[in-house]
Amino acid sequence: MTTRTAEKVLSFEEALAGFDPTMGLEVHVELNTVSKMFCGCATGFGAEPNTQVCPVCLGLPGAMPVVNEKAVESAIRIGLALNCRIASWCRFARKNYFYPDMPKNFQTSQYDEPIAFDGWMDVEVDGETVRVEIERAHMEEDTGKSLHVGGATGRIHGADHSLVDYNRAGIPLIEIVTKTIPGTREKAPLVAKAYVAQLRDLLLALGVSDVRMEQGSLRCDVNLSLAPAGSGQLGTRTETKNVNSLRSVERAVRYEIARQAALLQSGVPIVQETRHWHEDTGVTTSGREKSDAEDYRYFPEPDLVPVAPSTEWVDELRASLPEPPRERLARLQREWGFSDLEMRDTVGAGALVLVEETVAAGAAPGAARKWWLSELARRANERGAEVADLGVTPTDVARVQALVDEGRINDKLARQVFDGLLAGEGTPDEVVEGRGLAVVSDEGALSAAVDRAIADNPAVADKIRDGKVAAAGALIGAVMKELGGKADAGQVRELILAKLI
Ligand SMILES: [Zn+2]
Repeated sequence: MTTRTAEKVLSFEEALAGFDPTMGLEVHVELNTVSKMFCGCATGFGAEPNTQVCPVCLGLPGAMPVVNEKAVESAIRIGLALNCRIASWCRFARKNYFYPDMPKNFQTSQYDEPIAFDGWMDVEVDGETVRVEIERAHMEEDTGKSLHVGGATGRIHGADHSLVDYNRAGIPLIEIVTKTIPGTREKAPLVAKAYVAQLRDLLLALGVSDVRMEQGSLRCDVNLSLAPAGSGQLGTRTETKNVNSLRSVERAVRYEIARQAALLQSGVPIVQETRHWHEDTGVTTSGREKSDAEDYRYFPEPDLVPVAPSTEWVDELRASLPEPPRERLARLQREWGFSDLEMRDTVGAGALVLVEETVAAGAAPGAARKWWLSELARRANERGAEVADLGVTPTDVARVQALVDEGRINDKLARQVFDGLLAGEGTPDEVVEGRGLAVVSDEGALSAAVDRAIADNPAVADKIRDGKVAAAGALIGAVMKELGGKADAGQVRELILAKLI
């Protein structure tokens, strides 16, 4: 049952005074393989509904699945990058349950024989390292998608009918499950966010997924429970499903801590259930009571042969892994010349890869960081979006900085170029052209403007002639005003001094 009424919550500080949070994170990653997990259907996002389907992924009687080798390879590489042990022999299992978007009435998954297990990843939060232990990473297939039509919220309640698109059914998924993460206290929301952010960067570096949270190719479920502070116990947990942005991961953990604390403090027990995250209101609401594993009647999938990767293959994949995250961070910091704080801010803003790609596109590291962490982070924040999802690319940012470096625009005009990029007005050059933003670099026009400024401000001009160079600021201001800000302040200053001294 879904309840729409806002629940009572404690403040985060009050909640922590009485309770210790323990969390666990389950991340589903859609692999970027060309074809599906058990059939040859295409996997592209955004195709016409039900055009990327076949008897296998529609679960028609008699259809025989075949494992996608590339997906197994990606699963092993993910496992190795997470410091997991790789199973030398494992099987798929049927997880039986009914859902309209799952045409087979079971999901082909892995149960007690995951391909990868017992790993860890260290995440950095405020300069402190927290080791997140990985219980398992297993292979499975995605379900289709239901679209509920007619309701206000897009959810089934209040809808008058539902449509199902099976294009996503059978797309390879890797589910990465952490062990419970205890002892993070007030840092729990940040640890959760940092873990997902770092996992996303790792998956991107592995090249196994496009990890677009807003398109659902990386989805996070947050398990959270509270126990009386200092008791060392484990409370009853809730599972908040499909938290689909880094910002929401942090907010969902914070909200569940505050909500559960209010209930427990009033003596109301926590129900083990799945909950829905509401991006707009920042709350979770009750979903369904959580099934235990035995309810799914798992059994080994009889239509698929076991997966038995050879030691040679696993060693080969291990040798081809990208640089581990911490080494990579240390190297980038060295190459970019960032301070610890600058590096931490860059990672914290989810902008590491963006800065890296902007530098690769030709911008100086400091300039790349400046745009992503100030101007663009501010705009992302205003929209409640991730900076990576703004629609401005590293190539755009590098080009804007190049225009500044070439003296064609200044920093102030660059902000207007970003306005144009966000409004979909084309490339940076097209925005500069379309909005008439280029600075006046024509010497004649500049010179004339400077002459007028000198004539209009004779007292200031006299001061400069007497050697008070600092007074030039007033004349620069006058010239900039006349030219609508479209001039290079350094160039104007040089012209003024050349004329007066
Ligand atoms: Zn298919």
